[in-house]
Amino acid sequence: MTHTENVVLVTGGSRGIGAAACLRAAELGHGVLVNYVSNRQAAEEVVAEIERAGGKARSVQGDVQSEADVLAMFAACDDFGRLVGLVNNAGVVDRHQRVDEMTLERLNRMFAINLVGSFLCAREAVKRMSTRHGGKGGAIVNLGSASSKIGSGNQYVDYAASKGAIDTMTVGLALEVATEGVRVNAVRPGIIDTEIHASGGAPDRVAKIESSLPMKRAGTADEVAKAIKWLLSDDSSYTTGAILDVSGGRAILP
Ligand code: NAP
Repeated sequence: MTHTENVVLVTGGSRGIGAAACLRAAELGHGVLVNYVSNRQAAEEVVAEIERAGGKARSVQGDVQSEADVLAMFAACDDFGRLVGLVNNAGVVDRHQRVDEMTLERLNRMFAINLVGSFLCAREAVKRMSTRHGGKGGAIVNLGSASSKIGSGNQYVDYAASKGAIDTMTVGLALEVATEGVRVNAVRPGIIDTEIHASGGAPDRVAKIESSLPMKRAGTADEVAKAIKWLLSDDSSYTTGAILDVSGGRAILP
């Protein structure tokens, strides 16, 4: 197997924003490791699309809430090349519920995937990219959500809170590794037209909400991916700890 020089790992790269981020990361000339949890075929399609465009990519199965899986994913990175970027994209929503209806099982799953998974992946990325650990630097891009500002009452306050913690982690980790060649930023999407809404039991969410959005439309996965690409690239070399709203104007006020 050929050893690619620079590699970007995108968690949840098989569909939606993650898949678009994989395609855009490949444009930077990096090899792309496309993580998925269950939809292997979708991940392989992303790999094939990158290869058709002349890039290098591999897929890797792994559930970000499992430390063993995360370690195996990063071992696959090491086998592929030198890690220069992590997109902490894997995330889930759940059915619309009030907090007084939420089970412990639901809460544990939400925070394990959206928050702990992002921490585990960030930890492994810093170990490889930070000059403190002998690395040569890199960039981490976290996926937040406009829900962290809105709170998403009567929908999923647990999801919004997990994303609020992502905002905080982004700032704290950015400061922690600022002198170590690692930049840490987040994009904070608004309503983006992906399958995530159907997975939370609301397949018509985008159609229902669109007319109330400032731009009267949802965003596309690629519109978010283009911001992720910039934050991964050297064009954003003086940007760290930033949380970039990619929300078409939704929830831009503090
Ligand atoms: P999506 O279309 O539902 O895709 C989710 C991706 O995450 C899939 O690739 C899925 O893999 C993967 N995944 C799910 N659970 C995982 C786990 N435990 N371990 C590893 N991978 C896992 O989601 P999306 O809309 O693109 O959202 C991507 C990110 O953006 C999420 O963090 C989400 O919270 C955030 N975001 C989305 C919106 C929006 O409106 N869409 C708005 C704000 C923020 P499989 O294909 O194998 O299932």
